[in-house]
Parts: sequence; structure tokens; C-alpha cells
Amino acid sequence: MPQYVFDASCPSVAIAGSRKRFPLHRVYCVGWNYAEHVREMGSDPDREPPIFFMKPLDAVVPGGSRIPYPPATGDLHYEIELVVAIGRSGAAISRDNALDYVWGYGVGIDMTRRDLQAVAKSRGQPWESSKSFDAAAPLSELHAVAETGHPDAGRIWLEVNGEVRQDGDIAQLIWNVPEIIEHLSELFVLQPGDLIYTGTPAGVSAVIGGDKLRGGVDGVATIEAEIV
Ligand code: MN
Repeated sequence: MPQYVFDASCPSVAIAGSRKRFPLHRVYCVGWNYAEHVREMGSDPDREPPIFFMKPLDAVVPGGSRIPYPPATGDLHYEIELVVAIGRSGAAISRDNALDYVWGYGVGIDMTRRDLQAVAKSRGQPWESSKSFDAAAPLSELHAVAETGHPDAGRIWLEVNGEVRQDGDIAQLIWNVPEIIEHLSELFVLQPGDLIYTGTPAGVSAVIGGDKLRGGVDGVATIEAEIV
């Protein structure tokens, strides 16, 4: 795997089967969107509203990258997630036509400095330093809707060094893709180039240098990364 090299001139993502790239606008993420994961984080999935946060564009690194172990943590976690790529501008979008705004789908890993997040949560502080660090958003190639359809079920999984750690189904999303778009577009004007990391199933845990991650959403894409 090549070492990821930051390229500020190219905030874009590879499109599967094409030499064109998908230019990025913003990276949104949904927290706590699978009940078993909410429980493993020590909360009640029936009582928690959706949590939205953002990552910087330059946190997006291509699948197959070597991810530098970030500073200031001893508890770096993976979170495998279905990623939605937005293709049209819109605000206050109804869930009934939300899928019209989707360009395509990919698979990402929401890398998290869990120890910093735990401190932020306990103090009621922002999650920024736990979620928005360098190379914190590995992302597969994107696949157009014409290729994937709008997946609402399918295995979502992640292996560390060949051992299955996360094994869920995107049908278990508390807020599905149309509902996420409805909620998010009440807060922000969605634009072409927006990505939405939709949340992770249970099974998150720490990785260390040398660990090889491999995950995917069946019918969408797979992604690999190596922690170095
Ligand atoms: Mn996440």
C-alpha cells in the first residue's frame, strides 16, 4: 500500500470504473445510528436523537492507504460505515424524495480517538479532536446509484488482521438514508459533493500500528487500510 500523501489541490474521491473524480464539498457524519453500538457506548438507543458532526475534507483518504497512527491517543478505534454521496443541492428535503438527492454510495471508516471522545462526552465538550484529525476518514471508491441502486439492507462488516470485529446489516440503521437526509437538510443546505458517513454497527475496538483493516457493505464496496 502506498503511504497516503496529502494533496490539498484535489479534494475529491475516486469514482469506480471511471477516470473522473467526485469533487467534495463537506463531510458529515451521523453518530449512534445502530442500537447495539449505542448500547456498547453506554447509552440508550431509544432516547438518543441523531448526532451530526463533520470532518475536514482533507481527512478523507483513499481506500488502500496506510493510515498514520495519530498523536494524542492510546485508543484509536475503527467504525465501518455506509457512506452516501450527495449529487444535488437541497434544503428541508422530505424523506419521501430524499433519495433523488443521492449520487451514489461508498464505504468509509470513521476513525476515532475514543479516549479523547470519552473525555469530551464526560465534560459536555465538542467531539472535534476525537473525530477530525488527519486521515480520519478513509473512503472507498464511490459507486453511482445506477450501479448500486439505493441499498437498504446488506451486511456491513469489518475485519482486523482477518478476524471479524464488526458484523451488522444496514437494515439495522436507526435512521435510514432518507431520514438522515431529511434531518440533516433541516440543519444545512446540502450540496453536490457532500458525503454522509451514516454510523457504525457494534464491535468497535482499538487498533495499533501494523493492524490491517478490511471491511465493506455487501452490494456497495469494500475498503482496506493499514495502521502504521
Ligand atoms: Mn461513526
